[in-house]
Amino acid sequence: MPEGHTLHRIARDLDAAFAGAPARFSSPQGRFADGAALLDGGEVVEARAHGKHLFVEVDSHETRILHVHLGLIGTFTIDADPYAGERPVVGMVRARIENDAHVADLRGPMTCAVITPEDEAAVHAKLGPDPLRDVTGDRAWERVTRSKKSIAALLMDQAVLAGVGNVYRCEVLFRAGVDPMTPGTRLRRETWDEIWADLRRLLPLGVATSRIVTLPEQVEQIETALAKGEEVYLTERDSFVYKRTGEPCLVCGTPVSATDVAGRTLYWCATCQTGR
Ligand SMILES: [Zn+2]
Repeated sequence: MPEGHTLHRIARDLDAAFAGAPARFSSPQGRFADGAALLDGGEVVEARAHGKHLFVEVDSHETRILHVHLGLIGTFTIDADPYAGERPVVGMVRARIENDAHVADLRGPMTCAVITPEDEAAVHAKLGPDPLRDVTGDRAWERVTRSKKSIAALLMDQAVLAGVGNVYRCEVLFRAGVDPMTPGTRLRRETWDEIWADLRRLLPLGVATSRIVTLPEQVEQIETALAKGEEVYLTERDSFVYKRTGEPCLVCGTPVSATDVAGRTLYWCATCQTGR
């Protein structure tokens, strides 16, 4: 399932391919034909993401917004178009955006709709702060510290914090050494600040590499490469605890635990993660 970094990467790539010029919008599959007709020929102003929501602002006589949520299986691919507008359609493409140089295909989204700027504002209002968008996580902390739910559940609640999915949830809790079952009301403020700062550090690496990177040596490797503008090649193992049930913890050797929290499998190390 796409996490927030995926949507921010898509927004960045859509911006680079389409912003500042008119684009053709269509629905090869047909299910979005009416929406595409409203946007077709309009100028793409900007693409932006908030958590797992993507907004493409289009100026076609009036300002209209293409609102996309990929859900569990959706994909949005952006490519240079070697077919000069004649690219064949592969599979069920709900929406296609094209200009003479690029084509973007949206498949299998949970949401694909044309909305107004007011509708967009209402979506933002329901979402918590996004570490890729907001400097401070104070609004999220206010929700966390008043809740008896576990921090593992709260991190997945998009109204508390936008953009974090299951992989980042498991990995940042491990990196902070936090007991995932700690109720929000018992979490220390400095622990929250550490988690927020860690997300602010890790998520941009996800945007840059399209991979979730959490192991310290890989984090440093990518930060160094990005600072130099170099390509990054990662070694194979890429998580502390995510999907490592029963395997030894990379730090202490305790078998990694797994249980269901907020509808998704939580992975953690019962020895390393005792902090609040
Ligand atoms: Zn451990």
